[in-house]
Parts: sequence; C-alpha cells; structure tokens
Amino acid sequence: MIIRSKLFITTLLNLAAFTLLVHAQQTGNTAMPASLGKEALDYFAKSENGNLESYLKRIRPVGVSADRRARLVASIRKEDIVSPSFQRQAKLDALRPIFIYHDRAGIEVKVVRLGLAWAGFFEGAAIVVSEEAVDILTADELQAVVAHELGHEYFAAEYELARNNKQKDKVKELELKCDGVAIITLSGLGLNPNSLSSAVSKLTKFNERHGMRNNPALMASLDERLSFFQGMTKLAETRVTKPPETARL
Ligand SMILES: [Zn+2]
Repeated sequence: MIIRSKLFITTLLNLAAFTLLVHAQQTGNTAMPASLGKEALDYFAKSENGNLESYLKRIRPVGVSADRRARLVASIRKEDIVSPSFQRQAKLDALRPIFIYHDRAGIEVKVVRLGLAWAGFFEGAAIVVSEEAVDILTADELQAVVAHELGHEYFAAEYELARNNKQKDKVKELELKCDGVAIITLSGLGLNPNSLSSAVSKLTKFNERHGMRNNPALMASLDERLSFFQGMTKLAETRVTKPPETARL
C-alpha cells in the first residue's frame, strides 16, 4: 500500500491496522471471486508490449523529487524509527538492486518499531519496514516484499480511486498486480521468484500468531495469492528477459 503522510499523526500500529491488517477475530467476506486473480494475470498477459519489463518501464510514473522525498522522510516520527543493527543493515543493503531496477535509487528505507511484521511504501518517498519483518525474512524475501511495495507506485492513482470509491475487489486486484510487479522484478534480476511466496507466507503467519491478519475485504487470502504467484511466475518465464548468468546478483 501507499501510505499517506497525514496518517503518521497516529501511531504506526494504528496505521498498519488502518490499512490492510485487522484483528484476527474480525470477520468478513474472505472469498475472492476467481476472476480477480485471472484479471490480474490477464492484465500482464495481455499487455500490448510483449516484454513485461519494457511494459513496466513504459508505464512507470515520475518519481517523487529529492526535496519532497526529504520532507516526507523528515515527517516520520523519530521515536518510531529504529537504527538498524549490523545484521539488519546487511539485509537492507541487499535491497539496492531492487530500487535500481525500478529507477528508484534515491528511496530510503526506514526500520520502525511496530510489533508486527509489515512493510509499506510511504508516499513514494521511503520504504517503511518493521523490525519484525526484517528479522523474520531472509534478504531474498525482503527483496520480494520491497519489490511488491514499489509495485504500488505503478498503480497508485487507480488504488486511491478504488479505495475512495470503496471498490474492495478492485483493491484486491491491484494488490495482486503489485505481486505481479514483484515477480517480474525478481525474474528480471535473475533472482528466485519463489521468495515472494515464502515471504508472504511468513509475514501472514507471524501476524496471525500475534492476533492480526490481512483484511480479507482488501487482500486476497494466502492461498489465493500463492495460486496467482504460480501463474505469474509461469508467465514471467516467457515474458521477462533474464540477465546472463555472469551478470546475476
Ligand atoms: Zn500491497
């Protein structure tokens, strides 16, 4: 999701709850119409340009200016930010190729205190990731999660419209499209696209153990997402150019 700055007047915990996480007891319609996964897959399958990387490049929005980025980053509450340990920093360093792939080398990553395993994209200016997410994910899995977050920038306008108009199925479909961007990214960099499934499974299960789960009204279930990943990975095998063996990261 893309986080709006006004939400930072609340605590980050409220923010995560406000966006996609709900208390585990909360019930809701969990079934996703089968067509949503298909629509998200068709979106990529039918993109007019055969190569999915060229397609992403063509629809990539203009990034946030350095000035605006600095202002937004400065607005994050200092007391929520954690200075990363050596081990955590090593995982954050592994994100650099992901940012470069999307022409977003200037994006900062802020590790925050949250008590949940969660990551978000703050107004196109910074990736905000909780200590728990950094700790439970491997560097490869963190790359996958951040690639999903960067995917949000491509669909930000549609996402905002869908949320404002309470088109919940559209939000779910856009979340899957961000998963699609993550799989294109990993495939294009010669990384293992299965890192996304293991990352999403770990985050979902960790949060469920801590009494929070993804809002079923806004996010496809874990099984539905895993099924979409399979289709998308297969598509990426023929529609994404892998780097030569020597150039692999
Ligand atoms: Zn998302």
